[in-house]
Amino acid sequence: MIRFEDVTKRYPDGTTAVGGLSFEVSEGELVTLVGPSGCGKTTTMMMVNRLIEPTSGRILVGGEDIAAVDPVRLRRRIGYVIQQVGLFPHRTVLDNTATVPALVGWKKAKARARAAELLELVGLDPATYGPRYPDQLSGGQRQRVGVARALAADPPVLLMDEPFGAVDPVVRAQLQDEFLRMQAAVRKTVLLVTHDIEEAVRLGDRIAVYGQGRIEQFDTPGAVLGSP
Ligand code: ADP
Ligand code: ADP
Repeated sequence: MIRFEDVTKRYPDGTTAVGGLSFEVSEGELVTLVGPSGCGKTTTMMMVNRLIEPTSGRILVGGEDIAAVDPVRLRRRIGYVIQQVGLFPHRTVLDNTATVPALVGWKKAKARARAAELLELVGLDPATYGPRYPDQLSGGQRQRVGVARALAADPPVLLMDEPFGAVDPVVRAQLQDEFLRMQAAVRKTVLLVTHDIEEAVRLGDRIAVYGQGRIEQFDTPGAVLGSP
């Protein structure tokens, strides 16, 4: 579903964020990208939705070279969740969740019905939380709305950058559990960035272990843990 072929990204200041990356993620697979800060995880992920363009190499999504796909059209197929969720403060939780379906032309009633369904899926009662504003939610709840919003247009691919990074350990474990349950139901192809090896192991079907600018190991949690 996602395929990197010898991808390098060099920033204008000369920093090589990633060099010669090649890997493949299957449909419905959840791959965690783990490694220390600055090793190129976010750069890798942002190249998938063309927020960052590679310097060389090729990236395919669903068999298509994304360099040839209009970025706006591409992003409709790719949900994106970041740590600072970036909800619109003056829109209710329900309207925040309905943003993407509305953008891609769904009728308002259909977009809102879909948003309510998604809030339910991430464990937020739509009747209670739908009418609230983002600043009336806890950090963990905002994070859930971010996930619901990213899923709203039903994209086959989901990119998540430290999605559970901003919450305390108890809420984090809870969100991880719920996310695993949800993923079992929807089976998206997921790339999830984390600096936490425990999270990588817990969530990943496979783990991409980063060193500086490259993937040092790409394997199942068992194999990664078992390696010296
Ligand atoms: P990670 O997500 O693993 O923390 P990043 O992909 O954010 O790593 O960064 C990889 C490397 O690229 C780091 O050395 C970082 O400083 C550098 N980098 C990231 N963004 C830019 C940029 N816009 N300009 C120059 N260097 C950057
Ligand atoms: P967390 O540890 O998840 O960040 P908080 O301590 O921020 O949780 O919030 C705990 C509870 O208080 C949550 O269930 C949330 O719904 C509620 N809450 C937090 N902030 C507000 C607010 N501004 N208005 C109403 N309820 C709130």
